[in-house]
Amino acid sequence: MFFFTLPAYSKITRIDCNLNIKDQEAIASISINLYSETPINYFSIEMPFQGNRIIKISDSIGNIKNYEVRDGKLFVKTNSSAKRKEELLKIEAQYKELEKEAFLQARILDFSVAAEDNTELYFRAHGPIHGFDASPGFKGSVKGGELFLVGYGPLHVRFIYSHSGQRFGRFIVFEDGSISNAHLTEIFNEAENLYFILPNVLGIEPDQDIYAIAILCDSNYNSRVNNYSRGIYVNGGLILLKESVLREKKSALPVILHELAHCFNAKAFAWNSSKAVWLDEGLAKFIEYLVSKNLGIKVPNLFLGEKKYIEGRYVYTIFPSGDFNDLYQYYNDESSYMAEWNAENSEKRTFGYAFSELFVRDYIFRNGFEKLHYAMQSFLNEKENIYDSREFTKKALEKLETSLEPCKATKKEMMVSCINELNSFAPEIPKAKIVVAGPKQLQKTDDFDIFVVRAKNIKAKFRDLNDKMQKFLEFAFKATEAHLQ
Ligand SMILES: [Zn+2]
Repeated sequence: MFFFTLPAYSKITRIDCNLNIKDQEAIASISINLYSETPINYFSIEMPFQGNRIIKISDSIGNIKNYEVRDGKLFVKTNSSAKRKEELLKIEAQYKELEKEAFLQARILDFSVAAEDNTELYFRAHGPIHGFDASPGFKGSVKGGELFLVGYGPLHVRFIYSHSGQRFGRFIVFEDGSISNAHLTEIFNEAENLYFILPNVLGIEPDQDIYAIAILCDSNYNSRVNNYSRGIYVNGGLILLKESVLREKKSALPVILHELAHCFNAKAFAWNSSKAVWLDEGLAKFIEYLVSKNLGIKVPNLFLGEKKYIEGRYVYTIFPSGDFNDLYQYYNDESSYMAEWNAENSEKRTFGYAFSELFVRDYIFRNGFEKLHYAMQSFLNEKENIYDSREFTKKALEKLETSLEPCKATKKEMMVSCINELNSFAPEIPKAKIVVAGPKQLQKTDDFDIFVVRAKNIKAKFRDLNDKMQKFLEFAFKATEAHLQ
């Protein structure tokens, strides 16, 4: 419970929150629909408040003076009047310090709306916004710089906000000017051409018309991210790339598409608050593999088989990712740490990536893409946060109807032949039925109609509203209309 309402049998049926951001501050207009089975004279509510200041509170009768902010909580009593079942509370508040982090001019903002588990919640933020991640169960979209989310219960959302950035098709790029515009155009045009691989392989697609990418110089990337990766997806919708990766178009594209896969996955695995990333990384590595194949880039085998090729007067050898003996050992020892694997542990990093990719290749090889799509689409509907890695793994494997044991066999030769088979597995990109991970009824979800509530309440007594009240309502209605454009 995030709210406390009085009387006890009253409840909050719906919350609409509109956030207007102006650089360092934001104004939130929050409408709270109150309902009581039995008609009552007033409602009293207590809710968490993280804003800096209340600008105004009103209900269908007029301004409310009777409120207080104490210990991070807002206490409000609606205007007392004739008994009624419904009331609409409007809160206007100022928020500062929404910024969590910033990379170049791409700012990552954080916002929460408290709500009871069964309260319908609509959230809009007016940008320019370029990406987001929200609590599980919320469906969202980013279109034309506006973020829209709908779901039930408390909302926590993180999103990318910026007035800067260079637009290349569906990408908005933040960089410090050290890469030529022509080069960036070439890379992101090509990324656009390869984009179709993502929704068709994963079976899902975020409902957004833009993807944010920040390119950090290597020293900045190493100090702020880590010194082993080439790119990373930051929760909230931002892809960070290491500048040196962008030098070669061919080496940049598999990395960009790998990180974009994480952006897609973030929507499907919003409920995964554990550290387990084997499925997320396995899918991203698989995308990277398919992109490389499409571009004719040589990729290392998994666990077995060196690759040799000649270029000019030199013979090059590409060693496999992951050591076969480690995999054999893993199964022989009946290990299961991959169920909670993440890339942080440097000793298990290479093995973990190779194992995760082997899992995804094995899964698709045996089950086809459709079964993966079915699982990914059902992941989108998960509403319960999971904090424990093994619990996440259990749930994910249940949906996938498999176990986390690619190429496990009693005999070494059988393992070898399974791995060899998967190393030569290069499927065609399927033509999938893609589920767009957004609010499906975007056009149908209207903002709350204040006149409906007003009409019901004034029936009882308040037929002659004063001019001030009328003006307020007209203004509120206009503001609501503007949001729908
Ligand atoms: Zn990754």
